[in-house]
Amino acid sequence: MSRRRPAPTLLTVGLLALAASATTVLPAAAQSPRIDPQVAAALANISEDSLHAYLSKLVSFGTRNAMSISDRPGWGVKAAREYIMKAMQSFSSKLQVSLDCYQVSKQGRITQPVQICNVMAVLPGRSARRIYVSGHYDSVARQADGRFDWSKWDNPAPGADDDGSGVALTMECARVLSQSGLDFDATLVFIAFDAEEEGLVGSSLHAARAVKEGWRIDADLNNDIVGAVQGGNGIYDSRTVRVFSEEPMDSPSREVARYVHRWAAVYVPADKVRLIGREDRFLRGGDHTSFNLQGYAGVRFTESRENYSRQHIKDDTIGAIDFQYLAKNARINAAVAATLALAPPAPVVMGRRGPTLGRGKSGYDAALSWQASAGAVGYRIVWREAWTPDWQYELDVGNVTEYTLPNISIDDYVFGVAAVDAGGHESLVSAYVRPQRGRANVRRASGSR
Ligand SMILES: [Zn+2]
Repeated sequence: MSRRRPAPTLLTVGLLALAASATTVLPAAAQSPRIDPQVAAALANISEDSLHAYLSKLVSFGTRNAMSISDRPGWGVKAAREYIMKAMQSFSSKLQVSLDCYQVSKQGRITQPVQICNVMAVLPGRSARRIYVSGHYDSVARQADGRFDWSKWDNPAPGADDDGSGVALTMECARVLSQSGLDFDATLVFIAFDAEEEGLVGSSLHAARAVKEGWRIDADLNNDIVGAVQGGNGIYDSRTVRVFSEEPMDSPSREVARYVHRWAAVYVPADKVRLIGREDRFLRGGDHTSFNLQGYAGVRFTESRENYSRQHIKDDTIGAIDFQYLAKNARINAAVAATLALAPPAPVVMGRRGPTLGRGKSGYDAALSWQASAGAVGYRIVWREAWTPDWQYELDVGNVTEYTLPNISIDDYVFGVAAVDAGGHESLVSAYVRPQRGRANVRRASGSR
């Protein structure tokens, strides 16, 4: 299915509407997104051999079950977390690598008290706002009779695709971006979560900590099952990857999803992003949801063709991983994370009484205003009919903080604005919509640091 943005004919309609106003000086139509040669160089540094090396090591620990606490050398979740930590420390002295640990009491699938630890590598930017790339390093496998027994955790659980693939991808993004020499505005965080399989425990405790610490997180790019290309039904697909995002249509997470689609097409045209308008796969979950439940934007990457019979089983082995495919997915993540972190923050479009959008002097126009974003040299307005998912029209309006689109009804269209810096890096779009109400069903894993 082809994407319509920016469909020239539709854009022309927008410009004709603009031309209807004699007083309007027409700005240039929007430029296509630009490749930053330094970002492209970082992406070229992503290596299938590195990904293979990380994943070979991750599956060598026998199991990475969050409960498999053991001092046995080279076995279990503790050995795995030490490996991830040391590997990320070796990438660059700029990466601040630490364990983000919580004491968790017996609850749900956690069948006895345990210390769980996320492995976190922070690449500080000029500002404190954060962009995350994540995966989960814990694994789980059913017992020989095919059932889960959460009180037993020493059976083999290689977790190559679920989610060694997402962790290897996260580590490789950490390596190439920390070695890139790029000067990021946002702080990049590369994190391998623990105890995802027990109910998003590591990520939910981390997201709760983020709220408590007052961290501003603009996006979590979560990668879970991103390395294989053949579904359990035999169908191959090495050319697409799915990106899931929560409702509603103008949630901040959907803006992240649209951003992934836009920039993946620029930097990794060989891999097509399929946007899926739901939070996750049917009856399944992932760590991005821990961010969403706390009000942060986050999306989930997952391969297009899953093999369910290889998940949560001793057969989730490295043999099913296609490293060329995994490398493409790593490039998409690195491109999006780097561009977001280089770009100015998204413009603020919320006033005290809601979105700063009105009908203009005529009463029939779309009069948009926004607060200036630090580092922006221009802004891009986007809009679409209010019954479509993708932005249909876009216009570069220069370095202003208000703009009027004549004869375009604010009732019939949804509007947004993005900030652009001198290098062409674009912020996320801020949509002129009422903020989401808080979600009542916040998962509360209890634990203490
Ligand atoms: Zn998983």
